[in-house]
Amino acid sequence: MSGEIVRECLTAALAAVTAAEDELGRLDSVAGDGDHGTGMVRGFQAAVASITDESAGQVLVNAGTAFADASGGASGALVGIFITTLGSHLPNDVLNASYVHHALVMALAAIGKLGKSKVGDKTMIDTLDPFVNAYGERATSATISQAWLQALPAAEAGMKATADMVSKRGRSSLLKARSLGHLDPGAVSIYYVLRAVSGVLTIRCP
Ligand code: ADP
Ligand code: MG
Repeated sequence: MSGEIVRECLTAALAAVTAAEDELGRLDSVAGDGDHGTGMVRGFQAAVASITDESAGQVLVNAGTAFADASGGASGALVGIFITTLGSHLPNDVLNASYVHHALVMALAAIGKLGKSKVGDKTMIDTLDPFVNAYGERATSATISQAWLQALPAAEAGMKATADMVSKRGRSSLLKARSLGHLDPGAVSIYYVLRAVSGVLTIRCP
């Protein structure tokens, strides 16, 4: 996968969070401070601005650093480290779905370690963990983009399940019960990003 495709993925992610900026802000207002939409937009703007003519892995390493610096908030550091860790585990030469899965596993673990969070805490991990597991189930027999597309329903189900959870991490955990019945903003934004990336991968490297 070339740096060019990763560049398109980051641009598509920026478009997706920009389209959802108000919705994400409203979700974050339920039990948080309402800044999740603006934070994600700022992060992906900086990520896109950081792009140079380098390998896919290096583009992601730079983008994750730029994201964390620009986005602020808990999600800025967490999404930033996810993107950077993903990039640092992508090999430079041959790339297949198994390598991408390994990089996804490492990136997810980096979020869990930094955020001290796990499945069921009502965070972006509730979208990412089922996505990465579903991706892994297909990684040996599918292309990078097929595995990505086929793992999306698991991510969507994980995102939807956050409505029934009580927040245990981040700002919204201070108002625990208020979040019940509402989707977690980070779980929603990450699902939109995964979906946007799938659209690029399906067209550019079917
Ligand atoms: P802040 O809470 O600092 O205002 P945002 O509003 O941008 O940051 O992001 C909130 C989102 O970040 C939450 O919806 C949740 O998905 C995610 N989040 C917060 N804390 C954690 C954590 N410790 N681990 C994983 N995700 C977290
Ligand atoms: Mg917030």
